[in-house]
Amino acid sequence: MQSFTLERPSGLAEASRLAAQGAEFIAGGTDMLQLMKEWVRTPGQLVDLDTLLDPHVELGPQGLRIGAGARMEAVAVHPQVTRIAPAIREALLESASPQVRNLATMGGNLLQRTRCGYFRDVGVAECNKRRPGSGCAAIGGENRIHAVLGTSDQCIATHPSDFAVALVALEATLHLAGPNGERRIPVEDLYRTWDTHPEQETNLRPGEIITAIEVPATALARNSRYLKVRDRAAFEWALLSAAVALEVADGTVRAARVAMGGVGTRPWRMHAVEAALIGKSANSGTYAAASAQATDGAVPRGGNAYKITLMPKVLARAGFGRRRRMSLIGQPITRVDGPAKVTGAAHYAADFPADRMAHAAVVQSTIARGRITGFDLTEAERAPGVLKILTYQNAPRLGKIPEISPVDPAGTPDHPLQDDLVQHQNQHTGVVIAETLEQARWRRRASASLMRRRRR
Ligand SMILES: Cc1cc2nc3c(=O)[nH]c(=O)nc-3n(C[C@H](O)[C@H](O)[C@H](O)COP(=O)(O)OP(=O)(O)OC[C@H]3O[C@@H](n4cnc5c(N)ncnc54)[C@H](O)[C@@H]3O)c2cc1C
Ligand code: SF4
Repeated sequence: MQSFTLERPSGLAEASRLAAQGAEFIAGGTDMLQLMKEWVRTPGQLVDLDTLLDPHVELGPQGLRIGAGARMEAVAVHPQVTRIAPAIREALLESASPQVRNLATMGGNLLQRTRCGYFRDVGVAECNKRRPGSGCAAIGGENRIHAVLGTSDQCIATHPSDFAVALVALEATLHLAGPNGERRIPVEDLYRTWDTHPEQETNLRPGEIITAIEVPATALARNSRYLKVRDRAAFEWALLSAAVALEVADGTVRAARVAMGGVGTRPWRMHAVEAALIGKSANSGTYAAASAQATDGAVPRGGNAYKITLMPKVLARAGFGRRRRMSLIGQPITRVDGPAKVTGAAHYAADFPADRMAHAAVVQSTIARGRITGFDLTEAERAPGVLKILTYQNAPRLGKIPEISPVDPAGTPDHPLQDDLVQHQNQHTGVVIAETLEQARWRRRASASLMRRRRR
C-alpha cells in the first residue's frame, strides 16, 4: 500500500475543501482499503468522513431520510425501513456479510467500485477505467459477470451496489454538500454511462459529499421487493438482481417501478417494462409480455449471454405474480414429516432393500500424525460376508484437486486412501465392504487393530 496521510477535519465544509484539492474520502473503508492494498487506488491524502456523517434513519414528511453515515446493517433492520421500503431491507440483507454490513456506510455503498477482475488487478495492463486509453481486457476476455446494457467498446463493467438498484426503483433522492453549497439529485442521476470515459463514473462535482438519501413513503415503496441471483447464497455480489414495486387495484396495474442490477453499467431503470405494465390487467400474460421488454438493446459479449435469457425470469420471480415470503425465520411452520417420524411410520433410506446391496464401514486412524507401515488383513478378508477391504494400497487413484483455496494454492494433500500419510485423528485409512452393515462394522473394528502405524 502506498503511504498516505489521514485527515480528520472538524466539519463537512473542511472535508469538502480538502477533497476538492485532490484528497479522497474514506468512510467505513471496506472498499477503499481493499483497493489501496491492491494498489488500484493510491491516494496520497485520505479524508475521514466517519464521524462527520449522519448515522440516523428517520421518517419525516418527505419519507425516509437515511443519513449517509448509517451502517448497512442498521438500515436493513430498522423498523421504518422494513415498513416503508421492504426492497431496501431485502437488498441490504442480501449484501456482503454481517461483519461488512456493520462497518460499511450507505454513502460508501453507492460509491463502491466495480467488481470487474481486470479493474481490481493491477497486473492487467488493459483497463480503461483504471488506466484511461489502455483498452478493455474484459471484452473478449472473462466477462461472465459483466454488463449487457449501456456498454461501449471502452468498458462493459457493472455497478455492484444492491442498495442502489432498490433506490433507483423507488425514485430516491441524494442530498449532496460541496464547496459550492448543497444540492439534491435523483439517485439514478448519480451514475454516468460511459461511451468514451469509463473512468468518469459519477456526476458528483469535485469535493461533493453524499450526506443523506431520501426515499418517498409511497404505496409503491411499501409494496416493493428485491431479488438477487448470485453464484452462492451469501457473501457474493449479484449476477442479476431486480427491484420491483407494484400498485395493483381492482385487478389492474396502476403504477410500477422496476430496476435491475448486474445487467447494466449502472443500476438500470426498466422504463419499457413499467410502460408495458401500467393500465393492464394484473395477470401472468401481462407480466410475461412486460418482462420480455427488459432485454431491449441488450448486447451479449460471450460469457455474459446467459444474462439475457435470465433477465425476464428474474423479473418474473422478483415481483410479478404470486408473492413469496422472503424468509421462514420467525414464522410458525408445520413440519410435514413430524407425525410420521414420531409414530414410526416414516421410511428412511435403509428401510428400502436393494438387490445384492453391499455395505461399507470406514476405518479411521487412531493417531493424529504418522505413517501406515503395513497391514495384516488376512483374517479380516477371510471373515464371513467381507467382500473387499480398501486401503491406500488398492484403492482407485483420485485426480489431484488443482487449487482448493488461495490459502493453500498447492491444493490439499488430504485425499482419502491415496498414500500412507496420517495427518489427523480419525483420518479415513480403510473401507471394509461386506454383505451386511453389521459384518462391515464388526470387521472395521478388527481391521483397525490389524493396521500397523508409526507416530511421527
Ligand atoms: C466481502 C465483501 C462483500 C461485499 N458484498 C456486497 C454485496 O453483495 N452487495 C453490495 O452492494 N456491496 C457489497 N460489498 C461492498 C460494500 O457494501 C461496500 O464496500 C461498502 O458499502 C462501502 O462502504 P464504506 O463506508 O466502507 O465505503 P469506503 O470504502 O470508505 O468508500 C467507498 C468509496 O466511497 C467514497 N465515499 C464514502 N462515503 C462517501 C460520502 N458520504 N460521500 C462521498 N464519497 C464517499 C470513498 O471515497 C470511496 O471512493 C461487499 C464488500 C465486501 C468487502
Ligand atoms: S470492463 Fe471496464 S473495468 Fe473491466 S477491464 Fe474493461 S474497462 Fe476495465
